[in-house]
Amino acid sequence: MTVLSVRNLNIAIPTGDGHVHAARDVSFSVEAEELFGIAGESGSGKSVLSQAIMGLLPGALISGEILFEDRDLLKLSPREMQQLRGNRIAMISQDPLSSLHPFYTIGQQIIEAIRTHRQTSHEAALAEAIDILGRVGIHDADKRVNDYPHQFSGGMRQRVMIAMAIVLRPALLIADEPTTALDVTVQAQIISLLNNMRREFGTAIIMVTHDLELLSSVADHAMVMYAGNRMELGPGNAVLRTPSHPYTMGLLQSSPTHESRGPLPSIPGQPPSLLIEQKACAFAPRCPSVMDICRTQRPPLRRFDDNTQSLCWLENKAVRAPAIAAAAEESAAASKSSDIVVSVSDVRLAYGARSLFSKGGGVEVLKGVSLELPRGTTLGIVGESGCGKSTLARIIAGLLPPTSGDVEIEGKSIIDLDRQSWVEMRKRIQMVFQDPFGSLNPRRRVGAIIGDPFRIQKVAHGDDRKNRVRDLMELVGLNPEHYNRFPSEFSGGQRQRIGIARALALNPSIIIFDEPVSALDVSIQAQILNLIAKLQRDLGLSYLFISHDLAVVRHVSKEIIVMQGGQVVERGETEALYHRPQHSYTRELLAAADPNYRKGGGATAASISEALTP
Ligand code: SF4
Repeated sequence: MTVLSVRNLNIAIPTGDGHVHAARDVSFSVEAEELFGIAGESGSGKSVLSQAIMGLLPGALISGEILFEDRDLLKLSPREMQQLRGNRIAMISQDPLSSLHPFYTIGQQIIEAIRTHRQTSHEAALAEAIDILGRVGIHDADKRVNDYPHQFSGGMRQRVMIAMAIVLRPALLIADEPTTALDVTVQAQIISLLNNMRREFGTAIIMVTHDLELLSSVADHAMVMYAGNRMELGPGNAVLRTPSHPYTMGLLQSSPTHESRGPLPSIPGQPPSLLIEQKACAFAPRCPSVMDICRTQRPPLRRFDDNTQSLCWLENKAVRAPAIAAAAEESAAASKSSDIVVSVSDVRLAYGARSLFSKGGGVEVLKGVSLELPRGTTLGIVGESGCGKSTLARIIAGLLPPTSGDVEIEGKSIIDLDRQSWVEMRKRIQMVFQDPFGSLNPRRRVGAIIGDPFRIQKVAHGDDRKNRVRDLMELVGLNPEHYNRFPSEFSGGQRQRIGIARALALNPSIIIFDEPVSALDVSIQAQILNLIAKLQRDLGLSYLFISHDLAVVRHVSKEIIVMQGGQVVERGETEALYHRPQHSYTRELLAAADPNYRKGGGATAASISEALTP
């Protein structure tokens, strides 16, 4: 039974700069119990589409049809839409905290959701709230119903959101990046829960995400969007394993997987501005298969035998780009290195341990961590939120003193350095952070930002500094003519290049990357990973690479350490660790990140996780 049918939908949002064309002639339908995936990068229009279905785009110019239970949602009054929202159509978002009210208990919020749409007593609604909380896996639901949102962990809050969304048994649930903010083991549990719910209640789910690997394992049908266009649509397996459209193919190839090695075939360039009217293929400037006609006429919708549909002039399905040859000799040279550039010995960090007011021993964040980084190689550090990996990075960078233990950089201890030695050491080790925008001062010009290390260390002046900054910009793939621009004039990927250029200014030998690509879209992520690898080969740099994304860490690292609860629980050569994990926690992490496992329902990770929970 078809629950939702979207036909020829066009959405234009008026802004001060003109109309943003967020959806152009988009059509698709969703069946009961189906999981329909919408994939795309930032600005592809995927989230605007779900807002349009929810009737949450006041002021937008919308044409076409959104048929839901035989009614066109675009023709309903605001009051009628309000009656549908939360009742027949529900939504869960990436951040449950922004959707749950901090002043009310979760019980009060679920009861209000029930009684807004249904005539029922407080007691009956309370019983229903407790029942649904139990079904989504909240233990002691009769007690926890009286807790406030902040008393739940991130994964549990997401369960509460799901409970609130499905308590009225909606026909359609829109899940907008429902697992993006969660650790990998919790992600698997939430996906498993959504799968159970749709089977139990017959709910159709639209899952909006940038995570193609996740979609390929769970989506019955998938739609890939780009610049407001429906580029490809079809059975999830076909679209995400053997795609028809060059853009889908490019996205899949540029996503690091558990198998990918060497440089990633990235998609060059940036997505187009949505302010511009499209008269040709929106992907033409970035497409490896572009033809003359693509640049002048909008492509037709082609249908293939495997039921995929592709908005493209190509008559056959897209073909894989040839693999880029890995720089084997350089890697081999690096792998022979036995020169240790970072040596961490039994580092401990405890907060409150030395406090006059602390009765106990304080909170131990790091519990005796040791590691070594050979020159010219990459050591990956993985673990879930709160495992201590970023704290360790700050200690190694000299930004935080440890409570005990030692850190040596190129054979020299950095503990208790005098000022002059500290200044010298800071030149050798640099950090690149996750949020490229947050780490750049928005009021300063990019040339000045990249030149900051020269200014602070007083090593280059005037034209010499300018020339060096321009060289750095070129080295990381930025146009040196953009020297006088502000950070806001650059895209996310370009801002990360600015961060990397700044880190390279003083010729460091070691760079610590703390989640450097997790805020970037897939195609841009591949460009940055390739840049990071190229700089290592060209400049002989040594990297500590911190990430929660196991595929990214595996792609870039020669060795990996796995951290849990402030300790290193496993360390090994990347491939050995992935194929023969020794520690139960490593096995749990790997299982939870495996798409086949996620499809299977997550029982193993859930049970291991519960067993590990104190
Ligand atoms: S229409 Fe042309 S430019 Fe667009 S995706 Fe197809 S081949 Fe590439």
